[in-house]
Amino acid sequence: MINVTDLTKTFGKNQVLKGITTTVERGEVVALIGPSGSGKSTFLRCLNLLETPTSGSIVIDGTVITDKGTDITKARQHIGMVFQHFHLFPHMTVIDNITFAPRKVKRMPMEEARSKAKELLERVGLADKADSYPSRLSGGQKQRVAIARSLAMEPDIMLFDEPTSALDPEMVKEVLAVIRGLADSGMTMLIVTHEMRFARDAASTVYFLDGGRLVERSEPASFFAKPQSERAIKFLEQVL
Ligand code: ADP
Ligand code: MG
Repeated sequence: MINVTDLTKTFGKNQVLKGITTTVERGEVVALIGPSGSGKSTFLRCLNLLETPTSGSIVIDGTVITDKGTDITKARQHIGMVFQHFHLFPHMTVIDNITFAPRKVKRMPMEEARSKAKELLERVGLADKADSYPSRLSGGQKQRVAIARSLAMEPDIMLFDEPTSALDPEMVKEVLAVIRGLADSGMTMLIVTHEMRFARDAASTVYFLDGGRLVERSEPASFFAKPQSERAIKFLEQVL
């Protein structure tokens, strides 16, 4: 579903992605781990063209999104992204947050958008919060709304950049459970996370990035039992 070939990204003189090549299958759940500054966020952001790759190619579902002529807006519609900080529209109710993009971008009729939003709220366990404003929600609830909002565009791929890093510990579980449910439903996902247990239990593949390179790409069980590189061994010693 995703084919990345020799992807590089340079900011000024700083080459932060140094030639990443990989393939993600439909339904695969990739956990991206690695030290701070290793290029995890930049890699994710290149996949939906929030960053313009410096060189290399990215093919998503047959479309070469790194081609100059690619309709970025259209390409992005297939890819949802959830950030550490939820970025909800503060002046809109939960349900308006969720229906906004489908109505504006997909021209979905109000009734249809609202009924879909309600289904999604049900799915993330927030059916009773449709008419609340984000300021009235806990961090975990906000993040679940952000996930529902992303899903409202019916993406084929979901990208999560440290979705639980800004949450109080007791809220991490409820958000991971929602992401886990998505994984089990067959969604293709890439998740930058520091939750090693989640990576081990929910991911089909672990990517270990270091210094802008994809240093290891393995099944979680073998990665956590027997990392191959010195760097990964060190990293796991620090976080486990
Ligand atoms: P990670 O998510 O693994 O912590 P990032 O992808 O955020 O790493 O960052 C990788 C490197 O790229 C860092 O050195 C960071 O300072 C640099 N970087 C990221 N975004 C920008 C930007 N917009 N402009 C300049 N440098 C950036
Ligand atoms: Mg990051």
